[in-house]
Amino acid sequence: MTKQILFLMSDTGGGHRASANALIEALNQLQGDAVQCRMVDLFMGYGTWPLSRAGAYYQPLVDRHLWLWQLMGRCCNQPLLWQSTAHAARFWQMAGLRRFVADNPADLYVSVHPLFNHAPQWMLRQAYPRARFATVVTDLASAPHPWYSPTVDLLVASCPAVQTAAQQAGVPSSRVLLAGLPIRLGFAQARPIPHQARAALGLEQRPTVLLLGGGEGMGALEDSATALASSLALQGGQLAVICGRNRALHDRLSRRRWPAPVRIAGYVDNMPLWMAAADLVVSKAGPGTIAEALACGLPLILNGFVPGQETGNVAYVEGNRVGVYCSDPEQIANLAASWLEPGNPVLAAMSRRARALARPSAALEIAQALSALLV
Ligand code: UDP
Repeated sequence: MTKQILFLMSDTGGGHRASANALIEALNQLQGDAVQCRMVDLFMGYGTWPLSRAGAYYQPLVDRHLWLWQLMGRCCNQPLLWQSTAHAARFWQMAGLRRFVADNPADLYVSVHPLFNHAPQWMLRQAYPRARFATVVTDLASAPHPWYSPTVDLLVASCPAVQTAAQQAGVPSSRVLLAGLPIRLGFAQARPIPHQARAALGLEQRPTVLLLGGGEGMGALEDSATALASSLALQGGQLAVICGRNRALHDRLSRRRWPAPVRIAGYVDNMPLWMAAADLVVSKAGPGTIAEALACGLPLILNGFVPGQETGNVAYVEGNRVGVYCSDPEQIANLAASWLEPGNPVLAAMSRRARALARPSAALEIAQALSALLV
C-alpha cells in the first residue's frame, strides 16, 4: 500500500521549501509509487494572524525590524522559555492545529521548519499514534533550540554542531543521523561544465560571479551588484544576480545600465545550472545556498547574515576555509576580482575544500533513513 509522507514547512525564506522539494525528489527516486509525498505550509494554511502571514512578514521583519526578530530568536533559544511558548502555542493555535491534523492523515510526518517540532508533533501523535515523526534540520551551524524535540523518531543533523546540540537537548544519540543539509539531486548528479551551463543560460563565456540573497532576495544585493559590476568590467568578467521573490529589486536592477555584462533574474527553478555557470558565489549566509555552493565547489563571499539563525554559518564557512565574510561592497568587489585573476591559486584551493566539505547526496541518504521509518 502506498505510504503517505507529509512535509511540514513554511515559506519563511526559501530554504525550507527547497529542502522539502529535495527530499521529495529523492524519496520519489528511491521509492517510486510506494510513497506519496505532500507538503503543507502550516503557518499559511492553518495559522491565525500574524502566523498566517509569516511568509510575507519574514523579509520586512528581518530587513526593517531586526531588533524584534532578534528578540524573538533569543526567547525561542532559551529552553525553558521555548517549552512554555510551545505549550502556549498549542492552545493559542488549537483550532488551526485540529484542522491541520484532521485534514492530513499520514504515515510519516517530516518537519523541515524549526517551529513545527513540538505543538504539531504532540497533536499528531495523539491523533495518529502509529504515525512516525522526523525532523530534518535545515539550518547549519546555529540551528536554534526549537529544532530539537526528544520525542522524534529521527532527527537529521546538517553538520556536527547540530548533531551535538541535538544530543545535548535530549534527543537520544541512536535517533540522530548526521547526513548534511538536503539539496536537490541536480547538485549531486552529473552537472554541465561551466561553458555548457553558460551557453544554456545565454550568458557570455567569461569568469562569472553569482550574486544571491536567498529565496526572498534579501540583504545588500543592490550595493554589492553595483560594486561588482564595476570591478568585473575592468576584469572582463560578468555578473548574474538572482533576486528571488524580491520583484521590486528585480525591476529596479533590470532598468539599470551596467558597465559589464550583467544578467538579472527573478525567482529561478534551475539553481544547479546557475551554480554550474559560476566561478564564485556572493550571498547572505543562507544555509541552503551555502550547502549548494559547496556541492558545486564554489567559494563563497558572505555579504551578510540574519543575526541568530545564520550567525554560526559565517564561522562555518570561514572556519572550513571555503569562503570569507565581508559586508563592504567595495571590498567584496575587490576580493572577487582578485580571486578571479587568472592563475590565482586561492580560488582553486577553496574550491577543493568546498567539494571535500560538501554532502551533495544528503537528500538520498536522508530519504533512505526516512524510508526505514516506514517499514
Ligand atoms: N532559491 C531558488 N531560486 C531562487 C532563489 C533561491 O531555488 O530564485 C533557493 C536556493 O537555491 C536555496 C533556497 O532558495 O535552496 C534559499 O535558501 P537559503 O537557506 O540560502 O536562504 P533563505 O531563503 O531560507 O533565507
